[in-house]
Amino acid sequence: MTGRADRRTDRALLLTFDDRHVREWAATAPLFARYDARVTFFVCEPDRLDRDEMRLLRRLADDGHTVGCHGLRHERAPDFVAAHGAGAYLEREVVPALESLRRLGFPARSFAYPCSARDGTTDRLLLTLFERLRGGVPADRRADPSLADELRVPAAELSARRVLPGCSVDSGRGAVAYEDDLTGVVAALRRTAGIGGVTTLYAHCVAEAHEANHVTPARLERLLALAGELSLPCVGFDELP
Ligand SMILES: [Zn+2]
Repeated sequence: MTGRADRRTDRALLLTFDDRHVREWAATAPLFARYDARVTFFVCEPDRLDRDEMRLLRRLADDGHTVGCHGLRHERAPDFVAAHGAGAYLEREVVPALESLRRLGFPARSFAYPCSARDGTTDRLLLTLFERLRGGVPADRRADPSLADELRVPAAELSARRVLPGCSVDSGRGAVAYEDDLTGVVAALRRTAGIGGVTTLYAHCVAEAHEANHVTPARLERLLALAGELSLPCVGFDELP
């Protein structure tokens, strides 16, 4: 793992992956290494990881990647709170996931909202347990150049901003292909590399094709190559100041 001290911490790409695609993530480790990229894996259903997945996730963490929490059963936070109350949300959906990850040796200091569903109440609740949360902007914005300002969090605001917006870079889901135009995402990366701050992106599985949301290895490599050309370090959530 490359030391943190030699990294510019005033600008970064935060590349994140959600759900429980541990085998596919582990298969992508050489690509991350080639671009000296460290990323964040937000894991849901940690109690359902098999032994192989536990071992592979451990290896990813040993490579310097961050492991964060994505809930026990991928519940939409505001809906669960509305249906069962705030206490039940933490007790049934969040704390068991966090404890399960910690038992496996992952501190899980950050949380990504399933389906990016959040509100002020859930932010306040979760910030009692996590240092940072990841929300999202609508995926259909990713072709929009004005996304750059929405996505980029200025370096000066980073210590105060505990909820970071992310944008999907998934290629598709099952037979459905998503918007191929990433103009807004590219604009955000260029702006971030130019004037500092962080830009957060998210995907799910890494595969040529998959029934779940997935990004193709080729698209992932194009994003990593762009970040490399821009000298924009790709770091995990645990490396943020
Ligand atoms: Zn998810």
